Amino acid sequence: MIPTKERNQTAVFLSYGSEGILFDCGEGTQRQFKIAGISLTKITKILISHWHGDHVLGLPGLIQSLSSTGYSHKLEIYGPSGTKKRIEKIFEAFVFDRRIDFVLREVKTGIFFENNEFQLEAYLLEHGIETLGYRFVEKDKRKIDIRKVKKFGIPFGPLLGKLQEGKTIEHNHKKIPPDEVTFIEAGKKLAYVTDTLLCDNCYKIADNVDLLICEATYSSKLVDKSEEYGHLTAKQSAQLANKSNARQLVLIHFSARYKNTQELEEDARAIFDNVICAKDFMKISL
Ligand SMILES: [Zn+2]
Ligand SMILES: [Zn+2]
Repeated sequence: MIPTKERNQTAVFLSYGSEGILFDCGEGTQRQFKIAGISLTKITKILISHWHGDHVLGLPGLIQSLSSTGYSHKLEIYGPSGTKKRIEKIFEAFVFDRRIDFVLREVKTGIFFENNEFQLEAYLLEHGIETLGYRFVEKDKRKIDIRKVKKFGIPFGPLLGKLQEGKTIEHNHKKIPPDEVTFIEAGKKLAYVTDTLLCDNCYKIADNVDLLICEATYSSKLVDKSEEYGHLTAKQSAQLANKSNARQLVLIHFSARYKNTQELEEDARAIFDNVICAKDFMKISL
């Protein structure tokens, strides 16, 4: 909630092709972009988990700066109910030159965005105020097995395109079904879970993900405090990763009481091995 000398408030940036998805926007996020060497204009979507300040205080500054760049997208902002009104209030509170276009959408539950490459899902968490956890699901892709294609003597061109679409082709008077020469590459999945008690929807969001980004506000020594404020301990996040069959766990959103995150990482590692505590500017490739 309170930034420290070493750690900024919460914001996670997912870069995927031409999409730049920002999960939450804590105070100072735009400066973190500068330091990380990522242009703000890469942001195409902002997904807000909830309206506690530590997740949104960076929005006015970031929007103001975007307005002064040659930002050419329509900035999509998604969040829980009340998001539209709250964004409008930001424009009321500050004197801005509003030069960028927005799409503001209040998200219910389930899939709220889908294109040919990926979908975004949201589910309600338990944090006292309306809070959403998010799930990014890349679609499976059918890939050509070059070795097999050569074996059948299929020339490069439209026939391969048809196979990639999952259609049976005819070549040299022989029918070749797509499964003979193509294979399915599973899409990557990512979950963003912060500010919640452990609940059923946590498991729905984290199910089988390649990367679970999850809060660890306290260690399990402070489980009572954690429950009182509607947060997860590092150990509970590890339990979530474990039971959901997540491949990798990255912990975020630490209480300012922890000068370093060793205690939190150890608390989680007792349950789930492939875990690290995020550091500001950490990058992970999936
Ligand atoms: Zn919160
Ligand atoms: Zn928070």
